[in-house]
Amino acid sequence: MTRYIFVIGGVMSGIGKGIATASIGKILQSKGYKVTAIKVDPYVNVDAGTMNPIEHGEIFVTKDGVECDQDIGNYERFLDEELTTNNYITTGRVYQAVINRERNLEYGGRCVEVVPDIPNEAIYRIKKAARITKADFVLIEIGGTVGEYQNMLFLEAARMMKLHHPQNVLFILISYLPVPETIGEMKTKPTQQAVKWLNMAGIQPSIIIARSKFPLDYPRKKKISVFCNVDQKDVISSPDVESIYEIPVNFARERLGDRILHKFGLPSKKSSRSVLKKWERLVKTIKSVKEPVKIAMVGKYFETGEFTLMDSYISVIEAIKHASWYFKRKPEIQWLSAEVYEKNPRAVRELREFNGVIVPGGFGYRGAEGKIKAIEFCRTEKIPYLGLCFGMQLAVIEFARHVVGIKGATSGEFFPNKKNKVIDIMPDQKVLLREKRYGATMRLGDYLCKIKRGTTSFKAYKKELVLERHRHRYELNDDFREILEKKGLVVAGVNPERNLVEIIEHKDHPFFVATQFHPEYKSRPLRPHPLFREFIRAGIKKRS
Ligand code: GLN
Repeated sequence: MTRYIFVIGGVMSGIGKGIATASIGKILQSKGYKVTAIKVDPYVNVDAGTMNPIEHGEIFVTKDGVECDQDIGNYERFLDEELTTNNYITTGRVYQAVINRERNLEYGGRCVEVVPDIPNEAIYRIKKAARITKADFVLIEIGGTVGEYQNMLFLEAARMMKLHHPQNVLFILISYLPVPETIGEMKTKPTQQAVKWLNMAGIQPSIIIARSKFPLDYPRKKKISVFCNVDQKDVISSPDVESIYEIPVNFARERLGDRILHKFGLPSKKSSRSVLKKWERLVKTIKSVKEPVKIAMVGKYFETGEFTLMDSYISVIEAIKHASWYFKRKPEIQWLSAEVYEKNPRAVRELREFNGVIVPGGFGYRGAEGKIKAIEFCRTEKIPYLGLCFGMQLAVIEFARHVVGIKGATSGEFFPNKKNKVIDIMPDQKVLLREKRYGATMRLGDYLCKIKRGTTSFKAYKKELVLERHRHRYELNDDFREILEKKGLVVAGVNPERNLVEIIEHKDHPFFVATQFHPEYKSRPLRPHPLFREFIRAGIKKRS
């Protein structure tokens, strides 16, 4: 029997609903249950693939190639599970399915209505995820905040599910308690109002997770209990923390797991306690590490601001953290603008100060020449370098220009009509772009990569076949592969089905690895990705 927990946000966005959902999952895992999580995004986009990362934040890619919300990444990192298309619902996906069904006469000639047909489709999808994953608990995080128009149909779906399965559905409200500076006191009223909004949608939360700057005191818990109609034990204090990985530990301390199990009348299966023990040890490491490992991220960052950047590259940042903690180091990430290197090439010398340099995924020509300068510096000055997708393509261009001597070597992404495109569009992609079919048409998700023995990558992975996730339209142009290899470029990984180059390396370098895929998506807090791990190891060596 599956249990469904809807997680709904109150008061305002940006209070860490995704992390809270992932953390609820983690503590239920620690009680011995199988958990999956679904993200419901109320936007009309079918997926996140066509959205600008500066507006949307990171576009995460699942193994089956769905371009989705970064929260799916948070779920994967916390639950240590690989999720699929079934874990992601948007308004666009729901409407698209209903309209297609209507066109195929699958509603038997009746009038198709927003209510109940749209919520029913959402329910169908939630139950399908339950069936496929065979999870004991399905967590459903409803995007947005209660009281807004956008997510109403999903709240309606939640209400209908509770009506049909009263014993198996639970509502958790994640709310925010502000502490206005002038008053200096934690205020509960916005939370009370959020509950009223929920009540209007026919939903009464059983548990309230109270996010705030500080832990909740007894009077506050009591007030929320009385005015919001929940047991005092079900008001969970969730103060700001240093690291997101602390949140499951805090939830456990507040006995959130026990409260949830109690509501469903389920026992705790003792065998899995060790899950949280390991997590607690990680949190201890995170809080105690002092010695830094300094990583530079080179990109086009003007007019964005650090917060947006961190949001757009969250998986890369987390992967760096996981690998650094593995070596008991404190990760220090700095954002460096590639455009500065275009205006002032000597500025790249600042890269010497870092343990390692990353050029992450990206699109478009702006800043590309500066990134190439940074890559050249890393190659010649023997600074550990990790290139991710775009960072691999630019590394190939750099090598082609400066080592092989191919003048004006470039990418078809920048100049489709120029010569010497050492990086070019994949043949099957040409048609798609011509027909303006942009949505979900990149080379996406898991593909096999065969690793060459004796390479740095093989030393990292310690195996020959790996699956890694992709998101790109361009690749190393096969016409140039022979000459590049002849001049010393190491092709360390190839897709065995289509013979596409997936990893390149440089010889006689402490660490120069660049991948066409995105290893960052598969890094886990307790299991850093092998390539990130070896990159950080090399970085630490460089310093000493
Ligand atoms: N713009 C490049 C491509 O489409 C790289 C994409 C990326 O870095 N994810 O191939």
